[in-house]
Amino acid sequence: MKKNFKGLTQDELTRFFEELGQKPYRCKQVLNWLYKKSAASFDEMTDLPADLREVLNRTAYISNLDLLQTQASSDGTLKFLFGLEDGESIESVLIPNVRGGNKFTLCISSQVGCALGCAFCATGRLGIRRSLRSYEIADQVTAVGRIVKSLSASPAGEGRKGLDPHKDDREISNIVFMGMGEPLNNFRNVVVALRIFTELMGFSKRKIAVSTAGVVPKIYELAEKAPEVNLAVSLNATTDEIRNKIMPVNRIYPLKDLMKACREYPLSPRRRITFEYVLFDGINDSEEDALRLIKLLRGIRSIVNLIPYNPSSPCLQNTLMLRTPSEKKILQFQSVLHKAGVIAIIRKSMGSDISAACGQLKAGYAVNSEQ
Ligand code: SAH
Ligand code: SF4
Repeated sequence: MKKNFKGLTQDELTRFFEELGQKPYRCKQVLNWLYKKSAASFDEMTDLPADLREVLNRTAYISNLDLLQTQASSDGTLKFLFGLEDGESIESVLIPNVRGGNKFTLCISSQVGCALGCAFCATGRLGIRRSLRSYEIADQVTAVGRIVKSLSASPAGEGRKGLDPHKDDREISNIVFMGMGEPLNNFRNVVVALRIFTELMGFSKRKIAVSTAGVVPKIYELAEKAPEVNLAVSLNATTDEIRNKIMPVNRIYPLKDLMKACREYPLSPRRRITFEYVLFDGINDSEEDALRLIKLLRGIRSIVNLIPYNPSSPCLQNTLMLRTPSEKKILQFQSVLHKAGVIAIIRKSMGSDISAACGQLKAGYAVNSEQ
């Protein structure tokens, strides 16, 4: 049976080339083609001898994500639906950077669905179907990287916001694990993917963020296994009572433990932990909430991302009656934080017209509308 080249570890790859009687540098050459030049087949690797390419084609294959659909938002965001080898699917979202230019942030998925079942999240409503393999995580960046390069030449690129068609420097500058799934519940594969991004693809750790709903033991492990990668924590509430209701993971790892892990998270100079705070009308957006948030963050170098709740689907009946607060309330909340010296940025969700905004990803799966 042919081996999935991308599914092999570095050691297995080295052995694979040894067994073929090849010099070690061939292995490096192929990895360079795969991850630096985004080659999708051995035939594209033109500096390999033809007989080696032929052997590789016979004994191995390069798995690629199957691009099933691309949707373009009026704000320049693109959402990609990718099919996986076993018929499952995932979504990735490409967002033009605020400062324009030709740089993009790619929001990637780590799982098909999610086991944590947050009340406000469409992915959570799917439940967990499976975790992604490391190469399925990494391939989102390779596949979209190829698309980004070709953007302005394609109809999707014409007149796209923030895209300068005269420059050839289009690229993914940042990677965020904020798509489908809880990255820390797929820890091993996420760490391997992080190594692919930094060691093989050349991304700086500072340009990558892993977002967690608060799987506390794994936050400590992340600090050990992937130091200097940015940590984002989805806080979303300031009391256990409210957090238990909207984020069931809080019943296992309550706020006290979560904040302790954040306080102990090693940060290099000038780095901060990002706290995501989705605002829900009448639930977590009062002045008292803002004051409690200030208290929780004391002693942690932090930045708060205030995300107005995105309804995940108009027909969904939600028992908690979650609603987006008014603009005025959002600004008031931000102003309380600012007065206390807490940096808080209101994150207008990109791509909501194509269900690509935070919490709206469900990769075409039907979600249970009773929840
Ligand atoms: N599982 C990880 C990463 C994916 S979710 C986590 O929870 O952090 C990415 C972000 O989207 C989280 O901060 C989450 O709080 C936010 N989010 C989820 N559903 C949302 C919704 N309906 N509206 C706004 N933000 C949402
Ligand atoms: Fe999972 Fe994050 Fe959605 Fe919660 S918000 S259900 S942890 S993906």
